[in-house]
Amino acid sequence: MPSESEQRSEPRRIPGCVGTVNILGVPVRFHFTFWLIVVALIVYGARGKQSAAALTIYILSIFGSVLLHELGHAMVARRFGIRTLDIVMLPIGGLARLERAPKAHEEVWVALAGPVVNLLIAGSIFLWLTLTGVAPLPDNWLEITDQSLLPMIATANLVLAAFNLLPAFPMDGGRILRSLLSKFRPEHEATRTAARIGMGMAAMMGLYGLLALNPFLIFIAFFVYVGAMQESLASQQQVLIRGEKVHSAMVTDFRTLLHGDSIRDAANLLLSTTQQDFPVLTGSHVSGLLTRTALLRAMATEGPEGYVAGAMDRNFAKVSPDMDLTDAVPLLTGNNSCALVFQDERLVGLLTAENLSEFLVLREIRNARQRSQVEENEPV
Ligand SMILES: [Zn+2]
Repeated sequence: MPSESEQRSEPRRIPGCVGTVNILGVPVRFHFTFWLIVVALIVYGARGKQSAAALTIYILSIFGSVLLHELGHAMVARRFGIRTLDIVMLPIGGLARLERAPKAHEEVWVALAGPVVNLLIAGSIFLWLTLTGVAPLPDNWLEITDQSLLPMIATANLVLAAFNLLPAFPMDGGRILRSLLSKFRPEHEATRTAARIGMGMAAMMGLYGLLALNPFLIFIAFFVYVGAMQESLASQQQVLIRGEKVHSAMVTDFRTLLHGDSIRDAANLLLSTTQQDFPVLTGSHVSGLLTRTALLRAMATEGPEGYVAGAMDRNFAKVSPDMDLTDAVPLLTGNNSCALVFQDERLVGLLTAENLSEFLVLREIRNARQRSQVEENEPV
């Protein structure tokens, strides 16, 4: 069982992941749809003329190329001091999730690193083939045979590089486009433009997939569309919290538990209030945080007679009321749905994911009202 501190550093899990390995200090998780693609490749390849060994090498190489692509992103991000939370392998290539968003000038290099890895792999294979003349270039590029194995792997890497360089969010090309656009206009506008291009290209790809009866294209188009939409939403959120402090978004009216309280006491509080996470006090000192997840887990394993002290998290996230929300929000990831706000060692509030979303909605409305008032006051 992982320790509390390990649980805390774990990022918000993407549902549907099956299996995790650790490479160069980066956890690599596999989405079940990635395994579907592996199965599809095996089924497709089984009809070919190649040996079983060649097919296995081919599939492993494609898998390795996608992974190296993501590790390329992760390693360049590390040079800018950005940790990679994990790499999620998806059918459209994989997703390196970074601890914080790279700044515009960093993003170009982080985004380029992935496709560059694929171009390097393809380039080295073609160079080696040309220098040694061992394996001739195949007549039919779409057919895997034992002879065409290396050229096929090189071609797959070229396709990976080209696909990822499409100037559409969430592809790497879309990120490069965004950071180039952000030299000329505000960052959120650049993001919105790149996201719209991404959604437009995904819609066209999906339409073409429908007309050509190609389920694979429709599938990829769907992923690109959802990814573009998420990027767009995330950047809107960043704009809304810019310049805001923790105290304007925190919960100030909240309930606490005592160190000696039972899980039953906590469950009653969970039911009778809308609060989900409870600070636990020992005297006037905050000794831990009981989250809803931990409470439910304790209820299931230890029952209502257990103590909150045994279930609470002692390494909870601490913030101050004057901290920028931009710095505090990234703390609300993984199992941390709540951070405690302290002023001079005194607990003054809770910063929760739910409250933050209410705050965002209110800011959005306020901004819309301000815009409409400006328009009323300044008729064209
Ligand atoms: Zn990439």
